[in-house]
Amino acid sequence: MLSVIPNPARVALPIVGTSDFFPVRRVYCVGRNYAAHAREMGKDPDREPPFFFMKPADALQIVPAGAVVDHPYPPLTENYHFEVEMVAALAMGGRDIPITLALDHVYGYAVGLDMTRRDVQDEAKRLARPWDLAKAADASAPIGPLHPVSAIGHPVRGAITLAVDGTERQRGDLSEMLWSLPEQIAYLSGYFELHPGDIIFTGTPSGVGAIRRGQTMVAAIEALGDIRLHVV
Ligand code: MN
Repeated sequence: MLSVIPNPARVALPIVGTSDFFPVRRVYCVGRNYAAHAREMGKDPDREPPFFFMKPADALQIVPAGAVVDHPYPPLTENYHFEVEMVAALAMGGRDIPITLALDHVYGYAVGLDMTRRDVQDEAKRLARPWDLAKAADASAPIGPLHPVSAIGHPVRGAITLAVDGTERQRGDLSEMLWSLPEQIAYLSGYFELHPGDIIFTGTPSGVGAIRRGQTMVAAIEALGDIRLHVV
């Protein structure tokens, strides 16, 4: 039997310091996972259990180390926002993974951006509609190379920042997550069987805002370096 169309490409993340790669299966994202960001979105951070959404894996935009890549401004938004996030990549899956064992499932970490059509998201919230059109735009998940746990361990504190044209716009610390990565893995694995190749965007600190064509974003995490994107 033959495929009747060209096989869709599998997205794969480069791994720092090697020519190996990490093929991606699913992209999970946690919402409002830093208190100051929850407040800036008009929510009380103390009362909500974690919630998740997904982006399609082919929305990942690979940003090689040291490169400045062109990031396409998507159609049908006038308010396209950056959200810098740490991304965890799973080497092992499972169901109902206990919090205490969750980190054993992580292969490595990368710097990512959860790019968002905020105007479309605001409309979706108002009309109680799904977030896909806001969160799943083509190229809406820029991501840098993976740093293996074997090289850097598990980053649980350290600065996470985003600058636009040299001006810092977001700053937080990984230790400020409302739901830790082990808690996110445990919670998600109750709803889905997780698999090797799944990645998790772990939330953004406060300071999210709009980006325009012609501007350059630098997203950085202390243990993971930075990624650079020029919006076109
Ligand atoms: Mn986000």
